[in-house]
Amino acid sequence: MVISVKNLNHYFGKGQLRKQALFDINLEINAGEIVIMTGPSGSGKTTLLTLVGGLRSAQEGSLRVLGRELCGANDKALTLARRNNGYIFQAHNLHGSLTAVQNVKMGLELHNGLSPKAMYTRAVEMLEMVGLGNRLNYYPDDLSGGQKQRVAIARALVSHPKIVLADEPTAALDSKSGRDVVNLMQKLAKEQGCTIVLVTHDNRILDIADRIVYMEDGRLANAPVAA
Ligand code: ADP
Ligand code: MG
Repeated sequence: MVISVKNLNHYFGKGQLRKQALFDINLEINAGEIVIMTGPSGSGKTTLLTLVGGLRSAQEGSLRVLGRELCGANDKALTLARRNNGYIFQAHNLHGSLTAVQNVKMGLELHNGLSPKAMYTRAVEMLEMVGLGNRLNYYPDDLSGGQKQRVAIARALVSHPKIVLADEPTAALDSKSGRDVVNLMQKLAKEQGCTIVLVTHDNRILDIADRIVYMEDGRLANAPVAA
């Protein structure tokens, strides 16, 4: 079990403004699984994804990721946990002042032991894998939306993370680019054996999932039956 969530609750705000965003979440995700999380806007998908990723601290219940309990974990433990993950967001979050290859190299910089030259070589290889071997020295502003998102995928996967977390990775893309991006994520994940949790509204990409989970009002629910 790579991710094990038990009776997880989450609250935003304090005192009278405290509002519950997640209610009694239970979810188990196996190694190598691609799980898509869908559901209406505001249902808690991003909140759950950020908790799993150690981007915010879990408050109540149990959240075990790669064998570590993240509920109640301190900042140091969360920082360590984050290093096991690759992240892909809706807005690609590339550094505008860095070229494609420099951005991808950033994905290796927290991982000790590689020389700058070795990091560069791996970043180049990874960009070739996402079909951008001819765009190594381009800046994000000079790449299309789909290309930027492919750089983001390369950056997320270059360190061979055990877990990839993606939040609406196709939301800013046209349907062809969106399809290319998820196909690529699926292919690389299967090759590397990593686990993917992907949040999306995009019904056209649901078929890449091994399993689809549905969220509504902060709870895991059964997906509505298509009319
Ligand atoms: P989704 O990703 O499914 O659209 P979110 O996880 O972003 O949903 O939000 C779930 C609920 O938590 C919403 O009611 C939202 O307003 C609230 N929420 C999300 N982030 C915060 C925050 N940082 N502070 C306060 N409330 C938040
Ligand atoms: Mg969201």
